[in-house]
Order: sequence, then C-alpha cells, then structure tokens
Amino acid sequence: MQGWFYEKGGKSQLVIATGNRGKFVEIADLLKPFVSDIRPWNAFGVAKVEETGATYAENALIKARAAFQRSGRARGFATLADDSGFEVEALDGKPGLLSARWAEGQDQEQEQEQDQEQEQGGNNGTRDFARAIERVRCEMLARSYKESSARFVCALALVRSDGAERVVEGEVQGRVVFPPRGGRGFGYDPIFVPFVTGDDRTFGEMEREEKQCISHRAQAFRRLGEDCFAQEIRQEIG
Ligand code: IMP
Repeated sequence: MQGWFYEKGGKSQLVIATGNRGKFVEIADLLKPFVSDIRPWNAFGVAKVEETGATYAENALIKARAAFQRSGRARGFATLADDSGFEVEALDGKPGLLSARWAEGQDQEQEQEQDQEQEQGGNNGTRDFARAIERVRCEMLARSYKESSARFVCALALVRSDGAERVVEGEVQGRVVFPPRGGRGFGYDPIFVPFVTGDDRTFGEMEREEKQCISHRAQAFRRLGEDCFAQEIRQEIG
C-alpha cells in the first residue's frame, strides 16, 4: 500500500472516533480497501469528548486525538474523526458548529447529556430538525431574507499510528429554500438545493446514492483518499 498513511511504518489498523453505529458502519465500509482492522472507539471503552473547538477541523482533531491518546497510541492504531455542519450566508454562517444543537430546545446541561447519548448511539429520536429548520426560516425573516446561499462542510482528522496528523475538508455549496421539500436524508437536507446538480431538487428529494456522490462528506473522503491513501475512495457516504 502507498500513501502518507503507510509511511513511517504506519500500521493498517484504525479506530473511528464515533459512538454512532450508523456512521461507523458507513466509514468502515469506505475505508475497508485501505485498512485491515477498523474498530469504533467504544471497542476500547472510550466515551465522548467535549467538542470545544472553534472550527470543524479543530473539533475533528479533538476527537481523533482523544481516541489516539486513549486507544490508538498504546495499541498501534491510527484514529479518524469527523465533524460537520450547515452554514447559511444570510445568518453569517449560523447554525454552523451548533447545527445539531439547533434541533434541541433544552438548556445547556440537558443538551450536553443528550449529545453524549446521541454520540453513544442511543436517543436518536430527540433531535427535532423541523424545529431547527423553522429557526433558520425565522432568523432569516428577522433579517429580511427570504433566500440565501448556504453550504454544508465536513472536516476529517486522521492521526497516524506514529502520532502524525492530517486534516482534510469538503464542502458543498447551494441555497436555502422554503418550504422544506423531500422526505429522504436527514437534518437540514429538505431546505438545501446544491448548485452542482443544476436543478431545483433539495438533498431531501434526492436518491441516497446521488447525494452520497456530491455531499460535503463525499468531497472530504475524496480528499482523504488523495492525501492519505494515494487512491480514490469509493463514494458511498451521504
Ligand atoms: P455531525 O458532525 O455528524 O455531528 O453533524 C452535525 C450536524 O450537522 C448534524 O446534526 C446536522 O444537523 C448537520 N448535518 C451534517 N451533515 C448533514 C447532511 O448531510 N445533511 C443534513 N444535515 C447535516
């Protein structure tokens, strides 16, 4: 195998820094051709860490480093973490790092508990994205905007088994539309029309496979493949 990931005796073992089973399975599937042994971080008893970064890249690094310190370093595993969000230009980039939080209405303490449960793979029904989408609409109206451009961003942080680090980012540009359209996807998908397709469909109206080819996560994994594995990574994540 070639590429940065395998330099300096890098071993073909990887911990994915997420407790979310669905995310783990999708990422593990993508990286299977490159890595022989892939495990979720709870396989080593690692729990969620506080995401205190000021950027997606910082948050992804915080998670990847925590996984490396607690599980990777001693066992010769590399670690990978992601962070993503939705940014509306008319709202100066909000909800951004708070994209998940906008779907919750509780006080800070409850939100933190909820994040922990969510990251550990449970309590997935408690986020209400209809509420988050309505908040986007209201905040835009409060600023007298009915339309805005927007983007999804995804950062991936990889810590190699010798501790060397790489961060890559992907984004998909588009615009916000109301009312929400389409029952597929998740989160802010029903109000986001990507520019790249050249038509008027939201992410929520697209087949899963189509979104998976053009999404911010797809772009980030494409860059990860080029930068770290010297190969293209199959695009099957949405
Ligand atoms: P996370 O990085 O997977 O925790 O995602 C953070 C938040 O960003 C999610 O809870 C969603 O609100 C939003 N988000 C990230 N990716 C997408 C997407 O592909 N579609 C819709 N919302 C997304």
